[in-house]
Amino acid sequence: MISHIEKPELHEQLKNAVAELCRNFPDTYWRELDAKRAYPEAFVRALTKAGYMATLIPEEYGGAGMGVTEAAIILEEIHRSGANAAACHAQMYIMGTLLRHGSAAQKAKYLPAIARGEIRLQAFAVTEPTTGSDTTRIKTTATRKGDKFVIKGQKIWISRAEHSDLMLLVARTMPREQVARRTEGLSVFLVDLRQAAGRGLTIRPIRTMMNHATTEVFFDDVEAPGENLVGQEGQGFRYLLDGLNAERILIAAECVGDGRWFLDRACRYAKERVVFDRPIGQNQGVQFPLARAYANVEAAALMVAHAADRFDSHQPCGAQANMAKLLAADASWESANAALQTHGGFGFAEDYDIERKFRETRLYQIAPVSTNLILAYIAEHVLGLPRSY
Ligand SMILES: Cc1cc2nc3c(=O)[nH]c(=O)nc-3n(C[C@H](O)[C@H](O)[C@H](O)COP(=O)(O)OP(=O)(O)OC[C@H]3O[C@@H](n4cnc5c(N)ncnc54)[C@H](O)[C@@H]3O)c2cc1C
Repeated sequence: MISHIEKPELHEQLKNAVAELCRNFPDTYWRELDAKRAYPEAFVRALTKAGYMATLIPEEYGGAGMGVTEAAIILEEIHRSGANAAACHAQMYIMGTLLRHGSAAQKAKYLPAIARGEIRLQAFAVTEPTTGSDTTRIKTTATRKGDKFVIKGQKIWISRAEHSDLMLLVARTMPREQVARRTEGLSVFLVDLRQAAGRGLTIRPIRTMMNHATTEVFFDDVEAPGENLVGQEGQGFRYLLDGLNAERILIAAECVGDGRWFLDRACRYAKERVVFDRPIGQNQGVQFPLARAYANVEAAALMVAHAADRFDSHQPCGAQANMAKLLAADASWESANAALQTHGGFGFAEDYDIERKFRETRLYQIAPVSTNLILAYIAEHVLGLPRSY
């Protein structure tokens, strides 16, 4: 497909097609789900049916064979329409770990079924309650027993685990004290949640300030066949890093979409709302925060496109992916604040959707990596300052 159509044209078509799909899921759809904290099943099904959830799967396995650039366009457009891709975005960024490091047998077994929408790979389990951002200290273990691994431990904030068939799990296969470098001894597994349910796996939903389908997951001697180890045992941290860059770029694209949505809504309202006999948008006190947020969203969008381009052309992109996430999450939060302020009291009313998106976009100051940890990365890896953590 890409070879026959010029990229800008393809990107425009992609954007328009996603926007059209999202029009079937208006504000009221998201508002009702939010009130019930319910999963957007119909939306995820529609995205899957249209092939968007298989964007990064190569054509030989039935996917669209596109890159992170195209995945970013899709996710941005979803958020720009007022929708939320958090219910399913992980399938896009998890995919890379399987594509780059999975065996031929794993890819043949799972990718065509994922591309057809028969199974979902939407859960990614790294975070643990006692170790937080310090990933190399995770305590969940996977111990080899014959041709199987036995998994024991606990994960927290594992989103979509109840709505996924497969989970990409990071566990220690060698104790931290026994490896030369702290990043060694971690391994990545594909856990079949359908098989593990009732066999040592417990998933408990966590109710949060926004509708996010997140959970805690307990592994009490869950067995995973040896063939579900992804890549080499002990090298999992290395595999994670590439995936984390994709995750940061794609979440940043969602933030750009959020920022543009907030500014659309805020400007529309500022032109319509008349107080003191003139539209509130005529006041510089209302205009300037919106104008500043707009400039920051557009600058972040450029960094997202740059990071995605580097990712797709296999250039190092750790710095760009982190900066894209930092700038876009800040810009969407700034836009959210400006939009809420512009709406005055009505910003707090559920019917305007500002408060819902405000809660949703706030997450990206914390997850999938907190702002401080990004700043620490830039300080150490880009500016060459001593490691602070
Ligand atoms: C809704 C939601 C969904 C999530 N989904 C997933 C998921 O699907 N899979 C998954 O694995 N994880 C998921 N996460 C976890 C998320 O990635 C973590 O919450 C995040 O990485 C921060 O970890 P933490 O919450 O343990 O915070 P902590 O690591 O405890 O940090 C708390 C605060 O301290 C700051 N801090 C910590 N250390 C330092 C330091 N050295 N210097 C400066 N500041 C520091 C942090 O910036 C942060 O503000 C999700 C979280 C949420 C809330």
